Amino acid sequence: MRLTYHYIEPKTPEEKKEQERKMTAIYEMLFGAVLEERKFKEKLKDLPNGFSIMDGNSYNCCICDMYVKNEKLWYDKWGKKCLACQDAVDKNVIPASICKNHGARYTDFEFEIYFKLETRTIKRLISQNVLKVRIIPKSGFRVFLIEENIDVLPPKDILKSISIPVEGDKNAITTIPWYEGKDPKKIIGKYKIWPHLTALRNKQ
Ligand SMILES: [Zn+2]
Repeated sequence: MRLTYHYIEPKTPEEKKEQERKMTAIYEMLFGAVLEERKFKEKLKDLPNGFSIMDGNSYNCCICDMYVKNEKLWYDKWGKKCLACQDAVDKNVIPASICKNHGARYTDFEFEIYFKLETRTIKRLISQNVLKVRIIPKSGFRVFLIEENIDVLPPKDILKSISIPVEGDKNAITTIPWYEGKDPKKIIGKYKIWPHLTALRNKQ
């Protein structure tokens, strides 16, 4: 997956105006989110165990990342959770702390992004007990805690995507996955997931 960012210098007054309009929209969006979060935090003082939100706005669940609109969510000190994830937290299937610390877990989607692992391979690794998984009962969403997969899964901070300049365009940078800019075997060869990462091993 490649992402390229372009910065284009406005040349005409119209372009300048258009850029200012865009910047204002971005600013309002960010600032709106900050204000809203502050409002929720304030309400937590009266309801320390959390409260339900369904206000017509859309939110992402802090555990499964699901986009939620017009459905109830639960908000507490950890963040906004869909009801399936909240149920799993209440039943101690998953720790609520992963809401704030995404570095502590992997998901199927992240296995695809970081390791090009397909769902069928993930399922096979679970059945072979290579990967330890926690499954959210009401949604089937899979969470892989790094602390339960020590020596198997690497910490995510060594897998950051790499920014590189775009040839022939000094205003653009592009990002490439970590395994395209580094030797994957050197970085994660000692982890037990490595022998199963066919797509990365074949790049060598
Ligand atoms: Zn969720």
